[in-house]
Amino acid sequence: MQALTFAGKEIIEFSTVKDPEILKPTDVIVRITLAGVCGSDLHVYHGRETGLDPGTVMGHEFTGIIEEAGSEVKNFKKGSRVLSPFTTSCGECFYCRVGLTCRCIKGNLFGWVQHGHGLQGAQAMYIRVPMADSTLLPLSNDLNERKALLLGDVFSTGYFCADNAHITPEAVSVVVGCGPVGLMAVTAAKHLGAEKLFAVDVVPERLALAEQFGAIPLNASMMDVKEKILNETDGRGADKVMEAVGSDKTLRLAYDLLRPGGIISSVGVHTAPHYAFSPAEGYDKNITYKNGRCPAHYYAEKLLREGVPQRYPIEKIITHQFHLKDGARAYEVFDKKLDNCIKAVLLTE
Ligand SMILES: [Zn+2]
Ligand SMILES: [Zn+2]
Repeated sequence: MQALTFAGKEIIEFSTVKDPEILKPTDVIVRITLAGVCGSDLHVYHGRETGLDPGTVMGHEFTGIIEEAGSEVKNFKKGSRVLSPFTTSCGECFYCRVGLTCRCIKGNLFGWVQHGHGLQGAQAMYIRVPMADSTLLPLSNDLNERKALLLGDVFSTGYFCADNAHITPEAVSVVVGCGPVGLMAVTAAKHLGAEKLFAVDVVPERLALAEQFGAIPLNASMMDVKEKILNETDGRGADKVMEAVGSDKTLRLAYDLLRPGGIISSVGVHTAPHYAFSPAEGYDKNITYKNGRCPAHYYAEKLLREGVPQRYPIEKIITHQFHLKDGARAYEVFDKKLDNCIKAVLLTE
């Protein structure tokens, strides 16, 4: 089959790889219909994560149709439409039972193979999904494929971010960063009742979308955001700050915008060895800091059950689509934010 593979720093190749096969009776093979290019794929792309085997199929966001099901798979059969979280989960271990499916003891991230171990990714024609019954979710006819793709990662992650911030209507809340996850955090915070919600970025098109989704846009390249938030809160700072980028600079801004006793909820993928604020600063503000990888299976299942993605035009963040064969270009456009790209998807046909 054909797939996008990692060939070294900033080299993505459209190549022919071995077709995936059922290895265990709980596996399925999914024919991919839509795959996403995600901000976390860029960590690999830029070579910031060491040790990913060259030739690994990239990507962890997909929807598709079951092509073949192992003999012990109960919930899906050939022809079932499915969406997938970005990790696999067993549904039985301690972490799966408490809803922290991203830390399943048997779980793996798609598109991550090191020293021959791990799972191939979704930017391909087909993918093998282990533990299919407890990993995949059925894609019902009332949910369009683009919403389903977002539910598998960025919408669940944005919702997790807002959920961890304990949004209340009377709170002053801020989303730092209006990339795909930040824009989904805006939508989720509004859904959870945020009334005074600010969104910070420097890209006018992203801020315009944040405004459409219900936030008050603040362009950090044109104003002092901290001064603005202090003015809005009698000099206290925001009650809740959601950080959706993953850089020292944005985490520092989140700290600076927060009032004493407030909550920072961070879902940006941080790779720094130290926090952007010190333990002493944390103490001095009585902060609550919540962070980490989203348990996407838990949230995708919950949000589907509650009919949340159906209610919001979240697919507006998908600004670009490419054929799989033009994957290298998709990475370049997404990475460099060319042509105002917010999120790119790949079509296999
Ligand atoms: Zn992703
Ligand atoms: Zn588990």
